[in-house]
Amino acid sequence: DFTTTYFTMVEADALDYVKTRLSFFPDDAELTCKEIGDGNLNYVFRIIDTKTGKSLIVKQAGPVARISDEFKLSPDRNRIESEILSLQHKLAPGFVPMMFHYDPIMNCCAMEDLSDHEIMRTALLQYKKFPLFADHITTFLVNTLLLTSDVVMDHKEKKELVKQFINPELCEITEDLVFTEPFIDHPRNDVFEATKEFIQENIWGDPELALETAKLKLEFMTNAQSLLHGDLHTGSIFIKEDSTKIIDPEFAFYGPIGYDVGNVIANLIFAYVHARATIDDEAKKVDYMSYLEDTIVDTIDLYKDKFMVAWDEKALDPVASYPGFKEYYIGKVLDNTAAVTGLELCRRIIGIAHVKDITSIQDQDKRAAAEKICLSVGKMLILEREWVKTGEDYVKVIREFE
Ligand code: ADP
Ligand code: MG
Ligand code: MG
Ligand code: MG
Repeated sequence: DFTTTYFTMVEADALDYVKTRLSFFPDDAELTCKEIGDGNLNYVFRIIDTKTGKSLIVKQAGPVARISDEFKLSPDRNRIESEILSLQHKLAPGFVPMMFHYDPIMNCCAMEDLSDHEIMRTALLQYKKFPLFADHITTFLVNTLLLTSDVVMDHKEKKELVKQFINPELCEITEDLVFTEPFIDHPRNDVFEATKEFIQENIWGDPELALETAKLKLEFMTNAQSLLHGDLHTGSIFIKEDSTKIIDPEFAFYGPIGYDVGNVIANLIFAYVHARATIDDEAKKVDYMSYLEDTIVDTIDLYKDKFMVAWDEKALDPVASYPGFKEYYIGKVLDNTAAVTGLELCRRIIGIAHVKDITSIQDQDKRAAAEKICLSVGKMLILEREWVKTGEDYVKVIREFE
């Protein structure tokens, strides 16, 4: 019985759940179920009808417990995830999985199976190219971010959305793990030995950098600008040649627009640094790195262009048409984007949560070199965010440290 008390499901339960609670499959379906999540705090089940091949994903939030032993996590994040996926489906059709069902007792939801796509981080680590990605992700970003902002939305409806997506526990994780801990010598950090001295000197030992991270943390906590995805790294993107789908928005809340865009850019830089460290063949290396560089440039520039166009079409607040205001607004967004790119670059090297792009580099010297590039680029993007406005500006910063 799934209707009274929450419990964490195993494969047999999820199968039974789909049979008894959903009418997705026909009665004579022959269902099998497999847990396919990475199993840290959420459970992801894939249920297939072996007769027809039709399939479904059930994602359940783990108990009201912990990510490591210190983080409390409400299973309400599963509500946030289902509700924002439904909203994003309207704002940016085709860019998120279809949501079929949400269950507030079992803290689970049922959604479209995207197994014909692959996780973008994994694909980039295999040096695959996705020429449509920059176009797709920038449409997703502009549609979900600008269209949920005060310049476009009715202000009362916007404030209702702010309330709907109050997400204190997951925000606290970001506040701690992204903005605070990496920039001090915190016990939860996880530093690669060969990079430690560099971090002590260049990151922890720099009061100017500390001050800027404090300002950025305040901005993250107080600027209810747009409805963010909140965890938009390449592990939250499902991709194939002609399709891009954004998953796992459980960190969603109203925050500064630059937070989502910056995360995308930083994770493209991780893939770039990974390629630099791991491809032996010089021609192949140059080719793949320039593909990623183009993707970074296009993502920033298309983002900015589409944002301007959408503003002209959709920004209804009377102040939106004051001369200079659009440029002021996007200028602020781009500053924050550069800074968040920098924060993400630093925190994935220093903090508790790493990325495979870096940890999979086997050669220890090359890994240390890759980490130092990320940290140097990150630091500069934080400190000098005000002049980093175009795709080419990002390339300039990266080139500085290669
Ligand atoms: P978590 O919040 O625990 O990180 P994710 O939503 O990122 O969970 O999902 C974890 C993994 O489960 C993904 O990396 C992917 O392999 C698989 N997965 C998640 N959603 C889907 C889906 N809609 N279709 C197919 N696989 C999925
Ligand atoms: Mg995961
Ligand atoms: Mg998640
Ligand atoms: Mg995830």
